[in-house]
Parts: sequence; structure tokens; C-alpha cells
Amino acid sequence: MSTFQHLHLEIPKCDKPRVVIIGGGFAGIQVAKSLRHEPYQIVLLDRHNYHTFQPLLYQVATAGLEPDSIAGALRQLFENHKDFYFRMARVTGIDLEDKKIKTLVGELGYDMLIIANGSKTNYFGDKKMYDRTFPMKQVPQALDLRSHMLQNFEQTVMSREPEEKDRLTNFVIVGGGPTGVEVAGALGELKKHVLPKDYPDINFDIMKLHLVDGGPRLLAGMSEKSSAKAMQYLQEFGVDVRMNTRLADYDGRDVTLTDGTVIPTKTVIWAAGVTGNIIDGLPKETVERGRILVDEFNQLIGYDDVYAIGDIAMMKTDEMPNGFPMVAPVAMQQAENLGKNLKRKLRGKSYVGFRYKDKGSMATIGRNRAVVDLPKFHFGGFFAWLVWMFVHLMSIVGFRNRLVVLSNWIWGYMTYDRGTRLIIRTFLRNNKYKPGDTL
Ligand SMILES: Cc1cc2nc3c(=O)[nH]c(=O)nc-3n(C[C@H](O)[C@H](O)[C@H](O)COP(=O)(O)OP(=O)(O)OC[C@H]3O[C@@H](n4cnc5c(N)ncnc54)[C@H](O)[C@@H]3O)c2cc1C
Repeated sequence: MSTFQHLHLEIPKCDKPRVVIIGGGFAGIQVAKSLRHEPYQIVLLDRHNYHTFQPLLYQVATAGLEPDSIAGALRQLFENHKDFYFRMARVTGIDLEDKKIKTLVGELGYDMLIIANGSKTNYFGDKKMYDRTFPMKQVPQALDLRSHMLQNFEQTVMSREPEEKDRLTNFVIVGGGPTGVEVAGALGELKKHVLPKDYPDINFDIMKLHLVDGGPRLLAGMSEKSSAKAMQYLQEFGVDVRMNTRLADYDGRDVTLTDGTVIPTKTVIWAAGVTGNIIDGLPKETVERGRILVDEFNQLIGYDDVYAIGDIAMMKTDEMPNGFPMVAPVAMQQAENLGKNLKRKLRGKSYVGFRYKDKGSMATIGRNRAVVDLPKFHFGGFFAWLVWMFVHLMSIVGFRNRLVVLSNWIWGYMTYDRGTRLIIRTFLRNNKYKPGDTL
């Protein structure tokens, strides 16, 4: 029996077709915005009441930014939209035959369904790692890591056991993609410039940062030049980077790597990849490698009124036989294209296929270095970091957020200070945030 059975979605009936959007991420908010003036009733459902700017989650986890500067309230984003309804509810099932979605607070019929509920951390089915490591996909998870990290340093000050001190101050990051590299850089920055001021009684030589990746190079999705630069920057921070190495076991106290190394640590950050958030009820043949198979119009194959966009969508083309990368620009561009197509539908016009405009990719390492790959050339260093800052600032949802983030970054740059080292909510392993905790 559901705890929420006394609640109802309470969406009024009207004569306009109802478009239900699952997920207020990059794709969901973009498509909802593009349908603003069209004769549709729009219902947006999200398990959180805010949009998360995931590219900066690592800054929340490493005490660089407050969570509310990277999150935007969904109700506020759509406050003047007519025939728009937001409900904070987790969608638990989809019934394609009866054209309805299921939530813990009841069911809702749709005329058109847009599935935009993104992806989740991929543990490759390893329950032990799910229970013992820190993911980086949602704001509460980033806050868990921040509290845990600061609690570790508070305990280090009071510990007399050298091995325990190691365990508290060693960090292992699994995954050398942008998230792993950015977290490692931010921790390196904390170790060098910030923590020694807060904890003068700790000798920070004992704090060791390890990054492991099963592949041959960091930032595998970027150019070789950027991978090499990222490696150089991390090594300058003293990060022990081990390629072609995986985590073989972790019992909550010691990590064992596939090369046999044993590292005592209470902190393993899992940045090894993501997989689609598949909701129950979709036929087996519509799902491939954890994502929903769609055609070039983001339409679910075999279902006229159902679309999937963003990370959750598996659109295979000659150019991208394994689907498009799970990044924000793909999500936003697919949402824009779908918005245009749904307008064309209203005017009796045919759909236009999705074409991806790849504007490049980037990653930052520490406070003033980054690597940038543009379609025609690659560069790194301080200028790349300025480009990274500008692009991220402009992409954050909400004007207030942009101002807050900019002022934080300027302050941090001038003072070497990162402002938010508060343990507001003590982290306890058994109370680790689980995505299913919300409605
Ligand atoms: C740590 C990190 C760093 C990243 N850095 C970059 C970067 O630098 N550049 C870049 O381009 N991309 C980056 N990405 C990837 C980028 O964030 C995603 O590609 C993008 O968010 C995908 O957009 P989306 O709309 O498909 O999904 P999301 O933005 O994930 O949105 C999905 C939404 O659906 C909601 N939801 C999920 N399940 C349900 C459910 N059952 N019911 C109701 N609501 C649900 C979620 O709460 C969420 O709001 C990063 C991702 C992470 C995790």
C-alpha cells in the first residue's frame, strides 16, 4: 500500500491534447518551453521539484558551490505558462496500450508522452559498490559526499592511529571520464590551497588522491591531446592516476585494485558511467543497452504518440551507430527538434529528422586549467578554463544562479577559498540518499 494513497495528481480535464513529460532535466524543460504557446495541455512530472545542472555537481560535492546555485525550482521556471501543470511525483510505470503513466499518487492518461527522465549511475549490477561508494548524479548525493569528506577531516584531527588517518584522508575515484577528472582536480585544489588552512594540525602529505580507470586513457571521449594534458595536470596535483586498472573489491575499509594494490580508504567516488533510467512497462524490444530505442524523430519505434529524448534515448544513426553521447547539448537539441516537430504536426506538416550540431567538449582540472576540444582544434590551460567558465555560466538555469556562481568563482579565484565547508546534515552510511526516497 502506498504511503501517498490519500493524494491525487489533480490534473483538470480540458479539450486540448495532453502532453505528459517525464523529467524536468535539460531535455524536459527545453521541450516544455518550446511548446509554451501551442494548444496543448502540458503536464511535467519530476521526482524532485528542481532542475539539476549536473555538470557542476562535483563543485557541490567538493564544497565549491552551494547546492541551490546549481539547481532551479521547476515551478518558478514555468510560473507564467498557461495550461501547464507541474507535479512532484516519481513515475513508476508506463502503460503504452492504455496510454497512461503510473505514479505513487495515481495514474494519468496522455495523448502524447515524452520520456525525458535521463540516466542513473551505472554500477553494472554490483550491489556492494552501490552500497559502499559515492555516486555523483543528484544534489543530495553530492551533499552526502561533502559532509562525509569534511567529517573525515574532523575525525583525522582527533585520531591517533596512522592507518586510520590514512583511511580517512585517502580518496579513490573510479572512472577517468570528465566527472572523475573534474572531481580529482577539485580535491587536488582543496588539498593544496584550502584544507591546510582549516586543519593546521593535519599534515596534508598524508592525503592521497587515486584515480583508476579500466581503459588506456583519460577523457576517452575527447582528443588524445586533451587526454594527455588532463593526465599532466592531474599529475601536477599529485594525483596517482592508474590506467588499465579496475577496482577489484571494496569492503568499506580497503580498496583492492586489479594490479594488486591495497588502499585503505573510507571514500570511494564512483564515476564509472551512467545508464538509462528505464521505467517499468516498456516492451523489451524498445530497450537497448539501458536506453529507449527511437527513430530519427525521437519517436518510440512502433508507437506514434510516444517520444524519448536526452540521455534515455538510443537513437542510432550511421554517424552514431551506438547512439548519441549522453551529454547536455544532445538532450537540448533533441528537445528543440521534437518541439519543432510537434508544432509541425499541429500544422499538418511532416517531421524533420534530428541532426546533431557538435559544438565540442571540455573538462576542467582545478581552479584555472581546462581542456577544450572544438570540432577543428584542441587547446588547454588558462584560456581553456576561461572558455569552460563562460560556457558553464551561460548554461546554468536562472539569472540569480549565474550571478551567485560567478561571484563564488571570482571570490574563490582571488582568495583561494572555497566557501561552503559546513556539515549541515551529518552523513551516516545507512542513511545514504537513495533516489527512490522521494514520491
Ligand atoms: C556529474 C556529471 C557531470 C556532467 N558533466 C557534463 C558536462 O560537463 N557537459 C555535458 O554536456 N554533460 C554533462 N553531463 C551529462 C548531462 O548532465 C546529461 O547528459 C543531461 O543531464 C541529460 O539531460 P536529460 O534531460 O536527458 O536528463 P537529466 O538532466 O538527467 O534529467 C532527468 C530528470 O528526470 C527526473 N527523473 C528521473 N527519473 C524519474 C522518474 N521515474 N519520475 C520522475 N522524474 C524522474 C530527474 O529527477 C531529472 O530531473 C554530466 C552528468 C553528470 C552526472
